[in-house]
Amino acid sequence: MGQSSDTVHSAVVTYASMISLLTLCPPFVILLWYTMTAADGSLLVTWDHLTHHGLLHIWPKPTLTAFNIIAVYAAFEAALQLLLPGQTVYGPISPTGHRPVYKANGVAAYLVTLVTYIALWWFRIFNPTIVFHHLGEIFSALIFGSFLFCVFLYIKGHFAPSSTDSGSSGNIIIDFYWGMELYPRIGKHFDIKVFTNCRFGMMSWAVLALTYCIKQYEENGKVADSMLVNTALMLVYITKFFWWEAGYWSTMDIAHDRAGFYICWGCLVWVPSVYTSPGMYLVNHPVNLGTQLALFVLVAGILCIYINYDCDRQRQEFRRTNGKCKVWGRAPSKIEASYTTTSGETKKSLLLTSGWWGLSRHFHYVPEILAAFFWTVPALFNHFLPYFYVIFLTILLFDRAKRDDDRCRSKYGKYWKLYCDKVPYRIIPGIY
Ligand code: NDP
Repeated sequence: MGQSSDTVHSAVVTYASMISLLTLCPPFVILLWYTMTAADGSLLVTWDHLTHHGLLHIWPKPTLTAFNIIAVYAAFEAALQLLLPGQTVYGPISPTGHRPVYKANGVAAYLVTLVTYIALWWFRIFNPTIVFHHLGEIFSALIFGSFLFCVFLYIKGHFAPSSTDSGSSGNIIIDFYWGMELYPRIGKHFDIKVFTNCRFGMMSWAVLALTYCIKQYEENGKVADSMLVNTALMLVYITKFFWWEAGYWSTMDIAHDRAGFYICWGCLVWVPSVYTSPGMYLVNHPVNLGTQLALFVLVAGILCIYINYDCDRQRQEFRRTNGKCKVWGRAPSKIEASYTTTSGETKKSLLLTSGWWGLSRHFHYVPEILAAFFWTVPALFNHFLPYFYVIFLTILLFDRAKRDDDRCRSKYGKYWKLYCDKVPYRIIPGIY
């Protein structure tokens, strides 16, 4: 194929994947919820219902109750984000030389949220099972509400961008899908991506994991060990996330991906529905694993979450200390790279080539995928759908590793090639 037909081909593939994600993700969320909560986890039962009655029969209306639950939760999280105290943290320097400033109060917001939610249930002020009963309506309301929110982001990006890190690609669909602004804010202090990705998306994962556990308890008078392992592992993972939240602000999601449908709709809808789906399935499937197996899965899962955390920590500690730290007890081996910003400035950066980052260039994705497997495996193997998240995550992270490699190659040029020569595997050492 010649250069121009290559370009046309990749444009067609990009459009096709954007349009299919825009149109397929919303019905998928509803079908996933339906299968987990009403079809016993069976895709065949859902398919049968779908072919006889159609999608609209399954799709719940976004009721006022659902909107109220979402609005109260969103307002509570926004208030915590704005009002709780926290250290000032600086994000990485953007391609235009801008440096975002944050207030690191994620752990406090996480603790206040969980304590408040459990207290509301304990003192019988609000029963979380209401959330489970209205879950389909809530997802339906989130699907439409978040779509409107992405339209707002698009308009804001066009007419009132918050920083220099914004701009149009000249194509309305790409602008809507990938976003216009890297760091959109409301006023000076309310960071929209911190809200959508962390305080709404990731927080809803913890809140829903607890909801599923409480629902099973209220239904059966006890919680099966499979549900306990699933909830415990998800909560350890989310606790790790908020512990490390300021580090997340320098990852691809925040520092490279603009605020559009892809990341924001994903965090507002896909995270609460798809990421929590193994727990959603377990509510009506109280499998008992037995103490030994439950403990084995729990310990294996925690180990994976720890290794994933340690990979991120190692990279950030290495960058924070400018390479003057110990990696696995030794001085780190590194590449001193330089790159040019869009404004023409030359900057220096360090690439770690030992420790986890010497095993493969994205080794941290291996324990991330395994951890998801361990919090899903309590569902055993009667149905495929509980494993959807693990499969989705594997595809997402393999694609992300490629996107990141491409981005780093164009940023660092020969220095990235040097890294690839020294650490030839992209994700799985010795294999890929
Ligand atoms: P990171 O942004 O943390 O890491 C990639 C970046 O690190 C590169 O873009 C580059 O940025 C820098 N870098 C790359 N190689 C090196 C090196 N050898 N030494 C120093 N810096 C390097 O990756 P992710 O955002 O993908 O992952 C962050 C965390 O989020 C992980 O734990 C991951 O598993 C998790 N995650 C979870 C997802 C989920 O849906 N559950 C989805 C995606 C991620 P620079 O330009 O600064 O050089």
